[in-house]
Amino acid sequence: MAENKTLCAGLGTDIQSGAFLMEHEGADLLRKYELPIARSTIAKSKEQACQIATEIGYPIVLKGMSREIIHKSDAGVVKVNLKNEDELTSAYDEIVKNALKNNPGADIAGVLVQEFVPKGMELIFGIKKDPTFGHQLVIGLGGIFVEIIKDFSMRMMPVSVDDVEEMLKELKSYQMIEGYRGKKGINKQLIYTICLSLNDLIEEHPEIEELDLNPVIFTDNDAYICDVRILITKHKEKELVRKDLSHLKQMINPQSIAVIGASTNEKKNGGRLFKYVVENGYKGKLFPINPGAKEVKGYKAYPSLLEVPDEVELACIIVAAKHVPDVMEECVAKGVKAAIIYSSGFAETGEEGKKLQEQILAIAKKGNILVLGPNSIGIASPNNNIYTAFGAALETKVKVPGNIGFVSQSGAMGSALLSRAWEQGAGFSRWISVANEADLTTSDFMEVLIEDELTKVITVFMEGIKNPKAFSLASARALKAKKPVLVYKTGRSSIGKRAVQSHTGSIAGDDAVYSFVFKKFGVLRINRIDEIIDVSRAFTVQPLPKGKRIGVITASGGACSIIADLCSEKGLEIPELVDTSEEIKKYIPPFGSAQNPVDVTAEVIAVPEMFKKVVENVMKDPNIDGIIVMLTTNADPGAFIIAQSLIEIFKENDKPLVIGRLGADNIAPQAMELYNKEKLPVYPTPERVVSVMDYLVKYSEILKEKGIT
Ligand code: ADP
Ligand code: MG
Repeated sequence: MAENKTLCAGLGTDIQSGAFLMEHEGADLLRKYELPIARSTIAKSKEQACQIATEIGYPIVLKGMSREIIHKSDAGVVKVNLKNEDELTSAYDEIVKNALKNNPGADIAGVLVQEFVPKGMELIFGIKKDPTFGHQLVIGLGGIFVEIIKDFSMRMMPVSVDDVEEMLKELKSYQMIEGYRGKKGINKQLIYTICLSLNDLIEEHPEIEELDLNPVIFTDNDAYICDVRILITKHKEKELVRKDLSHLKQMINPQSIAVIGASTNEKKNGGRLFKYVVENGYKGKLFPINPGAKEVKGYKAYPSLLEVPDEVELACIIVAAKHVPDVMEECVAKGVKAAIIYSSGFAETGEEGKKLQEQILAIAKKGNILVLGPNSIGIASPNNNIYTAFGAALETKVKVPGNIGFVSQSGAMGSALLSRAWEQGAGFSRWISVANEADLTTSDFMEVLIEDELTKVITVFMEGIKNPKAFSLASARALKAKKPVLVYKTGRSSIGKRAVQSHTGSIAGDDAVYSFVFKKFGVLRINRIDEIIDVSRAFTVQPLPKGKRIGVITASGGACSIIADLCSEKGLEIPELVDTSEEIKKYIPPFGSAQNPVDVTAEVIAVPEMFKKVVENVMKDPNIDGIIVMLTTNADPGAFIIAQSLIEIFKENDKPLVIGRLGADNIAPQAMELYNKEKLPVYPTPERVVSVMDYLVKYSEILKEKGIT
């Protein structure tokens, strides 16, 4: 509020927070930052307009100014290229008429007389304040068609000249900015200057919620900002600080656990949780807390936490929400270091629940207790047999330990994916349901997984980021450690959540901010649910490709052309083999193809030894960074021999080898078992194979871009 007053006081208006500045008000503000605003003055009468027009010089532009009219041309109050006083006067009348037609109660502040800027390239410069990541700068192709063209790029502010250069390169219309077909491009210095001035503007006026400079017209030597739209924020954001994570060890590797709400009835959540802890082989001390039972599954039960005669590191709380505050008080009294709250009925249910959540958080703070949840499904750590979780995924007999560290904000989705992944043989180092993130967040567990030697890839199922500062720090550390962070994020279509009044807000929705933020942080965004497991598995075993030149080997001309199509869609190259094509010719029939994509034909599949020679040769070709093998319908025992060869080649080389197999698994059970034993994923469709390779290449490009070798 205070800032809004400052901003508005300078303009001599009485705008309250949450309002929008009319073009002339915004322009007055921007002039202070030496931004190249087209010359203009507001007129209160037709006579005054004529006078100003003479001072500026014809042709001129007239625009009706009213706080009720946000999009002026839509309301018919913009008249351009007025060449003389006659044209001006009739345009003036029309503007007033249209303004009132548009909104009969419109309060017309005046008519802006503006210099007419000759034709040039029109760009948009925009700012939007993201609720999570703060001010974002948007640069895009501008003019009245911005929403249709939607060619823009975005970066968190403040931006550097390098950032701006990168942003321009990301635009589809970059060629136009650079100049094309003998047409001179834009003097980029003008663009840099505008962006740096906008940095200053935002630093001094953080209350700006959205800003559009659209269009900014670039002529041969100059830039002219021809329209300014500024929205001012209503809310004040709170500072988010990092917390003390020293007790995370007790959360993830507890020496002693009390389960408050451990039930003898295994149909109840509290019964299932306790069963999973016990039956999956927890080795530490375990205390069921249940006032109605003497023992649970052979463990002596206690009526309350306070009666446990031993130290308790982790409290697993699975009682009705209304009892959680009392239990938390007991945790404080007992000196518990960490608590997982499984109970639902907190912030996820509305205002009442939110209050209850704040209450338990305050108690936790008092006792310096770290809290996971509420509404969490818990943590599963297959490598050390600690399962403090109650998801139905744990019903499976096959809980595969491994190297995927998985953090899920959605318990249901995370649990479903875990069960599916295990079924496919994917192994996990840890699986964590962060749920409401009242205290511990995704970023905190990313830190845990970065430290964890068994975790080779960090996969996140995300709905949103709670603490952007912590997320940026965690991502930066993961990048340094070369631990890929893969994020699947929901809510792509969230643009409609709030009313959007600016072009910037409309082309760059909240989800787009996430995409650009992930890019900045070197996080790999996963686009499809079915890619989550595929790609995570790949990163646990595959070396990174040095580039995007892919060698393709198949046993069918059809498969070759499908893989070639898919690679080209993704921008992966299938270059000629420089060294090895002649050698390959020796092994394959003349009707096959010894050039990339290599078609060994079904004949060579019948002679699996030959297949090995071909793959080895492609693998060693200096023109190749990674290999895709797409098998069709080979059956055991040939399939088994091929599997042996591929695994051997894979182990001996440091280029990725991504394998696909379209034919049914049940005609090659021996081969499939071997792949599974060696943890080398085999993907059933060409689409999945190519997309996995594409993600490997993308991550390797991220490392290159960030200068990490
Ligand atoms: P709004 O975006 O509110 O509809 P603008 O002020 O951006 O209104 O005007 C609409 C269009 O008119 C602009 O996109 C631009 O093409 C053109 N225009 C506006 N001001 C000028 C100017 N001073 N010189 C030349 N063209 C202009
Ligand atoms: Mg405009």
